[in-house]
Amino acid sequence: MSTSHTPPLATRLSAAKPSPILAIAQLAKELQAAGKPVISLSAGVPGFLPPAGVYDAARAALSKDSGDYGVGRGDAALVKAWVGALARKGFVYDTSEVCVQVGGKGGLFNVLLALVDAGTEVVIPAPYWTSYPDMVALAGGTPVIVPCPASQNYKLTPAQLRTVLAARGGKPCGLLFNNPSNPTGMVYDAAEVAAVAAVLLEFPNVWVISDDIYDALGFSGTRTAHLLDTAPSLRNRLIIAHSVSKTYGMVGWRVGLLAGPKAILDGVLLLTSQSSTCVPFMAQAGAAEALSGDQTFLTDVLKTLQTKRDLLLAAVQHWGWECPVPEGAFYLFPQVTSLFGRTLSGTVIDSAATLAKVLLTEAHVAVVPGAAFGDAGAVRLSYGAKEAEIVTAIARIDALLAA
Ligand code: PLP
Repeated sequence: MSTSHTPPLATRLSAAKPSPILAIAQLAKELQAAGKPVISLSAGVPGFLPPAGVYDAARAALSKDSGDYGVGRGDAALVKAWVGALARKGFVYDTSEVCVQVGGKGGLFNVLLALVDAGTEVVIPAPYWTSYPDMVALAGGTPVIVPCPASQNYKLTPAQLRTVLAARGGKPCGLLFNNPSNPTGMVYDAAEVAAVAAVLLEFPNVWVISDDIYDALGFSGTRTAHLLDTAPSLRNRLIIAHSVSKTYGMVGWRVGLLAGPKAILDGVLLLTSQSSTCVPFMAQAGAAEALSGDQTFLTDVLKTLQTKRDLLLAAVQHWGWECPVPEGAFYLFPQVTSLFGRTLSGTVIDSAATLAKVLLTEAHVAVVPGAAFGDAGAVRLSYGAKEAEIVTAIARIDALLAA
C-alpha cells in the first residue's frame, strides 16, 4: 500500500501572515450567511460603482477580442490614459516609464520583488497598510517600522525620518510613503510632504515607493501634495504605485498602475513576463475609460464620503475614542484604549482585537483591530458602507456601550 504526504510549504511563506482584514471580512460573511444582520465597516471598498462608460468600454473590448495575449506593459489605450492622468498631476512620464499591473497590490509586490534583496531594509511608518510589512518580508527584506502615534496625527515627522535613515549609515534602503493613508485617512499637506522630501534629498541611497492609491480622495479641494512637487530630482529613485480600485470604485477589476525609472519598470516587466503575462484586456479597457473619461463624478463621490466621515466621526467622538480627523480616503482610525478594562456583554475588553470581536458578535458590526496596521490601541472603521448602514451601525454600538 502506498502512502502519500502533502509536501511542506516553502520556508519563504513563514515570512508572511494572511491579511487580518480578509479574515474579519470572512467571519462577517459567515455570520451573514448564518442570517445575522452584519454591517461591515471593515472592508477597503469605497462603496460606489464606476461611471457607466467604463462598462461600455469593457463590453466593447469583449466584442473585439483578438484571442491573443496582451502586451506586458499594458494595452496602448490604458498606457496612454495613465500617462495622461500623470500629466494632469504635473508629472511627465514616457510610456517606457509606466506599466499596468494586476491591482495596486500586484504592482507594489512586484516593485518590492524588483528592488529588495535579502536583508534590504524598508522603512514603513506605522500605522501602515496591512500588506506592506508582509510584502517586504516575502521579498526577503526587513521591514523597519516607525511608530507614528495619534498624538502626532499618525504622521511621520521629518525628524523621525532623518533619525531612521541616518541609523542605516548610508546603506541603500527603501521608504513606503502612503498619502492619504490607509488606515488613518490622514493627509500630509504640502508643507509636510515638502519636509519629508527635503529629508529624502539628504539621503541619496534611499529609494521611495509613493503609494498614491487614495490621492484623488482628499477632502481639501486641492490636489494631494506629492514628494515630486518640491523634489523633482527624486524621480530617479521614486516609484508611483496606483490603481483604479479606490478612485473609480473598481476594486474587483484588478488594474494597478506604476510609474518610475525605466530600469526599475523593466525589472517589474521581467517579473510579470514570467508570472501574470498581462492584465485581462476587458478590465484594461474599462480602466482606460475610467482614467481618460469625465472625472466630474468625483465631486459627488467626495461629497458623499465626507458626509459619511462626519457622521461616523461625530459618533466616535461621542464615544470618547480619540481620533485625529481624517482628511481623505474612507477610514477612521480611533484609539479605543479608553474601553480597556470595561466589560461589554459579559466580556472584559482587554484589547482592540477583543473589542472588534465583541462588536462583531454582539452588535454585528465588523471593524478591523488596529494591530493589523501596526497600532494595537486602535480599530479601523471604513465608511465605504452605505449611509443608512452607518447610521444603524452607530445605533447598535451606542446601545452596546450604553448597556
Ligand atoms: N495601497 C493601499 C494603501 C491600499 O489600501 C490598497 C488596498 O486596500 C492597495 C494599495 C491595493 O489596492 P488594489 O490592489 O485593490 O488596487
